[in-house]
Amino acid sequence: MTRVQIGAVLVGATLLLVWGFIRVISRWTIVPEHQATIQGERITKSDEEWRQILSPMQYYVTRQKGTERAFTGEYWDHHEDGVYRCVCCGQVLFDSRTKFDSGTGWPSFWEPAGDCVSLLPDHSHLMVRTEVVCGRCGAHLGHVFPDGPPPTGRRYCMNSAALKFEHRNADSASRASTSPGQK
Ligand SMILES: [Zn+2]
Repeated sequence: MTRVQIGAVLVGATLLLVWGFIRVISRWTIVPEHQATIQGERITKSDEEWRQILSPMQYYVTRQKGTERAFTGEYWDHHEDGVYRCVCCGQVLFDSRTKFDSGTGWPSFWEPAGDCVSLLPDHSHLMVRTEVVCGRCGAHLGHVFPDGPPPTGRRYCMNSAALKFEHRNADSASRASTSPGQK
């Protein structure tokens, strides 16, 4: 073998090693992408339509992939029993039974409520992360990381502004609050 050939083999072997290393590391640090099963009709609206039905913060987070500041949202310290719906289309996304205190200042869950969110690779802000979007309307919800608690080991780090909480027995709760005579 000539020097050039040996050099080429060495470079090839090094590249292969680096590639394998990145593959192994990324398995530990990145949740793989996933396409949700669309529940019902896919919701599509123009930017203007979203702007009209959402608050400026909700619009910024869900439609412009924004992030609310930690410890400022409505749900990071919220412990009531119920479900969290998509603020844009109303699809149920998370159950309070899978919520945990991550200490990050954002509402965190170890699992979505069924196959309702899509996971997409996100390389923005010089980071490699996995973005979580609503499977039905594409609303940006937050990111998922592989450092959550059992049983899944995942941490769905969400923005409160993308969610709308609903008590588990919303019907009976609203009846009770609208008819003060019944207790
Ligand atoms: Zn949605």
